[in-house]
Amino acid sequence: MSDLKQNFIAGEWVAGAGVTRNVNPSNTDDVIAEYTQADATQAQQAIAAAKAAAPKWARSTPQERYDALKKISDEILARKEELGRLLSREEGKTLPEGIGEVTRAGQIFAFFAGEALRLRGDKLPSVRPNIDVEITREPVGVVGIITPWNFPIAIPAWKIAPALCYGNAVVFKPADLVPGSAHALSDIIARSGLPKGVFNLVMGRGSVVGETFLTHRDVNAITFTGSVATGRKVAAACVGRMAKFQLEMGGKNPLVVLDDADLKVAVECAANGGFFSTGQRCTASSRLIVTSGIHDAFVAALTERLKGLVVDDACKAGTQMGPVVDQSQLDQDLSYIKIGQDEGATLATGGELVKRDTPGFYLTPALFVNSTNDMRIAREEIFGPVANVIRAKDYDEALALANDTEFGLATGICTTSLKYASHFKRNAEAGMVMVNLPTAGVDYHVPFGGTKGSSYGSREQGTYAAEFYTTVKTAYTLP
Ligand code: NAD
Repeated sequence: MSDLKQNFIAGEWVAGAGVTRNVNPSNTDDVIAEYTQADATQAQQAIAAAKAAAPKWARSTPQERYDALKKISDEILARKEELGRLLSREEGKTLPEGIGEVTRAGQIFAFFAGEALRLRGDKLPSVRPNIDVEITREPVGVVGIITPWNFPIAIPAWKIAPALCYGNAVVFKPADLVPGSAHALSDIIARSGLPKGVFNLVMGRGSVVGETFLTHRDVNAITFTGSVATGRKVAAACVGRMAKFQLEMGGKNPLVVLDDADLKVAVECAANGGFFSTGQRCTASSRLIVTSGIHDAFVAALTERLKGLVVDDACKAGTQMGPVVDQSQLDQDLSYIKIGQDEGATLATGGELVKRDTPGFYLTPALFVNSTNDMRIAREEIFGPVANVIRAKDYDEALALANDTEFGLATGICTTSLKYASHFKRNAEAGMVMVNLPTAGVDYHVPFGGTKGSSYGSREQGTYAAEFYTTVKTAYTLP
């Protein structure tokens, strides 16, 4: 196949040492394109280019940063249908979800374009006479960005946009499975007027390109989203050389449904939160903790709702759930379905491989009932269209079960009681709490992140992103 998609380094499009194919999970006969793969030497060249460009970009004006970020936002939004289709074709989320994600990426760049005009510091009187104190935020330098496959454009956007906004140079390594959206975004960024070397795309293996970022002394900070296992490697490498880092990792997010919940709202929250985007969201509601009075009605209604979900080609009109992203994720989902059955949980619906017009990784949404919170299906992140229902006797037990997890990304409750909603917001152990809303689905202008094993370091997105992408300097002057 011709038209090899290349890496972008020091302002030039360049081929790497290898090639990878981007395959459509809805139709494995459909190869979207071929993408180059960097080796460690090329990753080092990208880091050198970023290092060389960083000082000048650190001194760029707010207007220059605004202009570049706004231009990127405008083009993403103008092409959201086309880019959304590419995203759905390579990742497998439905077309409305793909277009929605692209829209969000455009909005994020617009938000940080505005933030570039609002850079500020503090000037204070000293506690000593005649001295002025100034507190300013400075760029950290070269930021290494490593992203997962499940949000191929939104996660790159929410890391690249603030990095550039706060005056950093970027080396960006997207996930191997979804180079298409990353490449299209990089092409837009490449034409935004940024000086050469400020932004670099380095597609390639995590163990090669990612490792080079982690271990290179000229990468001043690493922002990572992905699995816990890789996150631990990132942490160990960064601590070893005292580099700044930020991790967003897995979840095992609970949705509590109380007896007084609106049943329709609760079923919709569970169906959306657990199964939209094929359950492949770090914020997916994979544990449904339901109090006894509503348990049976909830299980019956959710089972019906899931049986009716249309599972088909992600880009086909009417599809409500696309395929699983690839064979290895499908194997993981199927293995957990077997584990759940072996552990004694009952599969109420789904978990079956189904055939469609094209060869793809089609799995029906799986719901376990009669499960307990100590089962592996309730403790480990599956990252597929699989959720389990756990019965609780009352609110107190439901809250305790919800918090009994190593993760702490998102949590939710469905209730019509202000008392329980308020108590839950205060006592739920998670970075994001939802009341009568799915655990997945967040705004782009407010902080995103979790507690416990889900996250490490400062929050992403909104004005809170400044914590990671800047370093604080305190200057004292005796005039
Ligand atoms: P992954 O950890 O396999 O890969 C993430 C990225 O790390 C990829 O770009 C990969 O190439 C790279 N990588 C792999 N090995 C590396 C190494 N040794 N050194 C440096 N980089 C390396 O994760 P994934 O399968 O792409 O994504 C799924 C995971 O991401 C799930 O656990 C999910 O919960 C998590 N996730 C979390 C959030 C969040 O914000 N909390 C959002 C989306 C996804």
